[in-house]
Amino acid sequence: MAEHECRACRGQAGDLVLDLGEQPACDYFPEYDEPGPDPVYPLQMWLCSSCGLAQLLTDPTVPAEPRGAEPAALVAQAEDAVRRVAAAGLLPVNGRVAEYGSPHGGSWLGLLASRGLSAVDGTGEADVILDCFGMMHAADQAAALGERVARLAPGGVLLLQYHSLDTIVRLGQWNALRHGHYAYYSTTALVAMLAVVGLSPRTSWSFDLYGGTVLLAARRDTDDGLTGPASPDGTIRALLAAEQLTGITSPAVLRGLQSDVTAHASALHDWLSAMRDSGKTLLGYGAASRAVALLRAAGVDRDLLPAVADASPAKHGLRMPGTLIPVISPAGLRAGPPDAVVVFVPDLMAEVREAYPQVEAGGGEWVDAAALRSDEVGQEDSQPGQAAAPGGADAADR
Ligand SMILES: [Zn+2]
Repeated sequence: MAEHECRACRGQAGDLVLDLGEQPACDYFPEYDEPGPDPVYPLQMWLCSSCGLAQLLTDPTVPAEPRGAEPAALVAQAEDAVRRVAAAGLLPVNGRVAEYGSPHGGSWLGLLASRGLSAVDGTGEADVILDCFGMMHAADQAAALGERVARLAPGGVLLLQYHSLDTIVRLGQWNALRHGHYAYYSTTALVAMLAVVGLSPRTSWSFDLYGGTVLLAARRDTDDGLTGPASPDGTIRALLAAEQLTGITSPAVLRGLQSDVTAHASALHDWLSAMRDSGKTLLGYGAASRAVALLRAAGVDRDLLPAVADASPAKHGLRMPGTLIPVISPAGLRAGPPDAVVVFVPDLMAEVREAYPQVEAGGGEWVDAAALRSDEVGQEDSQPGQAAAPGGADAADR
């Protein structure tokens, strides 16, 4: 096998920091009655020693995921972000915007149009280049950034929004690793990538989405008559300092995610087994990619989790990849609510609790799958003998 070449700097020195073994493509939701086994591929994270970009090592070709329902939390965050960027004076009235969105949905163009910006298609130049979870889907990171920067008008701003690697490491979100997501940005690595193309970060905003999402604004060093890189503002310095404290470019630190896998998977398995053994009825919620890796790592199948409900009709009648667990409509949560619903997407917690009050009215509970952790590994925020926070909404609300 050829050496891996960094998707950003082309360096070949690096470390395998997280190995989830053979995993089904999380985009591939088979029809419920389609017999398995589903094809599996290695799923591994590699950390570049040269530029510090954490990235997907192998690159299997996968079909497109059925586009999911857009969580209310994502819509609210987009509104908040546009408001904050506008308040910073970075959205010129009558300006042009080019958007690189996520294939999973969630465009900001409507919000930007209402502020007087018009969308530019194709390869046209724009005053605002917006990338909202888009660039992570590009196998060639250097080419993807180059394409965006080539369209940036003089004096324009590049806005990049990403689920921060610092969040992933601090919260043990190992199942953020998935096929099709090629880069896991730390602000440290992203600033290095920007420097290569002559851009510097100017300011940033942080959001609770996914436990910690960053929107970074960058401009050309040559703008404002600068002869060298602009000095980062306090928000950028704070992000970089926090990442230095975490040790975000250290392979040893990132390998901590590997022990999070074991702790998380065994906690989920033990909790589901205990619930089943005590005769409780269970349901999952959120047929998301991160649920696929978690269920596989935990060895959970239909005997432990009879179904996963999802708001997206496109997923009904399918099954969770690599398992026999069907994806069903959440309508049953109203008619016959179970004793517990385990939520695989913490950002949905507030929304589903409000949408299905019948669960708690019937004495049932919502449990955040991300908050289920084994005590032995010493998660600092878990209480002895209590793996799951009742209600489990803590992580979603932080
Ligand atoms: Zn690199």
